[in-house]
Amino acid sequence: MTEKSNLSAIPSVDAVLAHLDERGLSAIQPRPLAVRLVREILDRERAALLAGECRHGDSPQGVRDGILAEVERELVRSPARGLVPVINATGIVVHTNLGRAPLSAQAVAAVAEVARGYSNLEYDLIRGTRGKRDYLVRDALCELTGAEDALVVNNNAAAVLLVLNTLAPGREVIVSRGELIEIGGSFRLPDVFERSGSRMVEVGTTNRTHLSDFRDAIRSSTGALLSAHWSNYSISGFVERVSLKELASLGEHFGIPVIHDLGSGILADPEKLGLSGEMTVRESVSAGATVSTFSGDKILGGPQAGIAVGTASAISRMRANPLTRALRPGKLTLAALSATLQSYLRGEAETAVPVLAAILAPLDALARRAEEMAASLASSLGDRARVSAVELEGLVGGGAAPERIIASRGIEIEPRGGVSADSVTSAMLTASPAVLARTHEDRIIVDLRTIDESQDPAVVAALLGAFEEK
Ligand SMILES: *Cc1c(COP(=O)(O)O)cnc(C)c1O
Repeated sequence: MTEKSNLSAIPSVDAVLAHLDERGLSAIQPRPLAVRLVREILDRERAALLAGECRHGDSPQGVRDGILAEVERELVRSPARGLVPVINATGIVVHTNLGRAPLSAQAVAAVAEVARGYSNLEYDLIRGTRGKRDYLVRDALCELTGAEDALVVNNNAAAVLLVLNTLAPGREVIVSRGELIEIGGSFRLPDVFERSGSRMVEVGTTNRTHLSDFRDAIRSSTGALLSAHWSNYSISGFVERVSLKELASLGEHFGIPVIHDLGSGILADPEKLGLSGEMTVRESVSAGATVSTFSGDKILGGPQAGIAVGTASAISRMRANPLTRALRPGKLTLAALSATLQSYLRGEAETAVPVLAAILAPLDALARRAEEMAASLASSLGDRARVSAVELEGLVGGGAAPERIIASRGIEIEPRGGVSADSVTSAMLTASPAVLARTHEDRIIVDLRTIDESQDPAVVAALLGAFEEK
């Protein structure tokens, strides 16, 4: 073995940087960050060689070339570059790992305008006095949901934390065992709930909870009744749940607030979105929830935010909670949220808000794009792959509506000549912009429902570039 000579084949940091200059790649990251990354990769390579691993073959030239290729790849992909755009070819509309909802053009413009200078974030331009930041979206939220008052915080988990900490600190909160869910990133909602200082009292069973389970658990120490959306899972068969209406009248009878964590905040018509059976925020409010909470960036289609709407007294108590200050949203969030809500109020949301537009995109338009893309790829790839336009099933996704499948169209590419589909999709991540596609049975699947038509050429370029690398 030639580990020794391979160790000396590891280039110096300066030599790698000179290589990047030569390749015109040194502007991708500022020099100090590039140096960090190069050092990390060289250290990793040294450790691997010392451990007797030959990750890049066992010739010195192979080691050197392997390292340089690795540096180039990681320079483009490393998180140290900051946030970079990714084209979502997965067909999952609300994709939490890809930043959930893309913003509307109106929201983007509002953010850009407010970001550039000063604004009325906390200044009342009528009275010429200090104002409150959540008044910027309060009227819009009340109008859209029928609630008496509304408050915005950083995300929905924060909204739930705040409402529990305000309405039931140190008290018991009764919740069905069927609704104690874990959301993405292994966060368990009950764990978040407990941090509010409330104690969760679980009632019922995973599949069946009756109103009497709640009633029997009510004591003098009960602070709230909680209902949470199942979000990212579903159960069927022998199932019984307590309706929000029933829960609300039970709460009213005992004078106990009812909190409804909706998860995804639907302001549009669920029927039209293919989400029949999903409750809108307005329905949650009219069913009698004291406070309803939801995310700004799931089906609502706005920025990351947590929104609480409810009775005037509950929301004003939340507003007075010192935690509100710790959980408050920034001005960029409020600018984007306000513009998004205004699209709803103008009746333009279905076209303006990208999440809704993606869910509503007609199949024939997707099919036409799929045919065009497949034809263009087939002629460029020749016998390197079999390309076809196919029918697909996309998802609403994102802890929004778990099993909701949307018929979709896209393309399927089966590489030939020993190239694996996974190696192609992996190479597509280094394109600019990066493209995230799925693979299935060694085929690359590109779903067009989540891709804006203007990005079709970028998807084709990323695919062809990835095949070139192979
Ligand atoms: C997504 C979700 C949350 C968390 O919302 P974030 O905005 O991600 O903080 C809480 N509860 C339910 C039911 C959810 O679906």
